[in-house]
Amino acid sequence: MKSQHSLNTEFGTDYKGAIQAWKKFENAPKSLEKTLNLIHQVEVLLGPVVYVHVLDSQQYIGIKFSERHKVISVWIHQNFVDHAVDLVGSLPLADKENVWRTQLTTSFSPSSKVNKPAEVNMVVCPKCGLQYNRNLPQCQDCS
Ligand SMILES: [Zn+2]
Repeated sequence: MKSQHSLNTEFGTDYKGAIQAWKKFENAPKSLEKTLNLIHQVEVLLGPVVYVHVLDSQQYIGIKFSERHKVISVWIHQNFVDHAVDLVGSLPLADKENVWRTQLTTSFSPSSKVNKPAEVNMVVCPKCGLQYNRNLPQCQDCS
């Protein structure tokens, strides 16, 4: 069920097969587990996976959910997953409307052990991927 296109490789609804072919989670079982869990959460909200592709650049895997949502709603990257729905533990992106990010690796998340309520006021910097307070004009790590 795999067909070649100029921009991506399609996997039908087989997101597990796509992730396997993509290989970036081969040595990251926790990232894989977190991603599969996240896909399931989005399926509950938007409906079952209907389309999966891996970019030929290998940059990310794109997933569409249900016939009602004809656009990509989940973008799986090596260190994070972006999604078009607000999920527990995710942060809104500073440079995109209605896109949230879940970090797969804990390196960018010093607050992972302590659940700070202030997290709701944080956004993810599009340049460096670190989080900063949305009330600030820009990321302090980059400025
Ligand atoms: Zn930054």
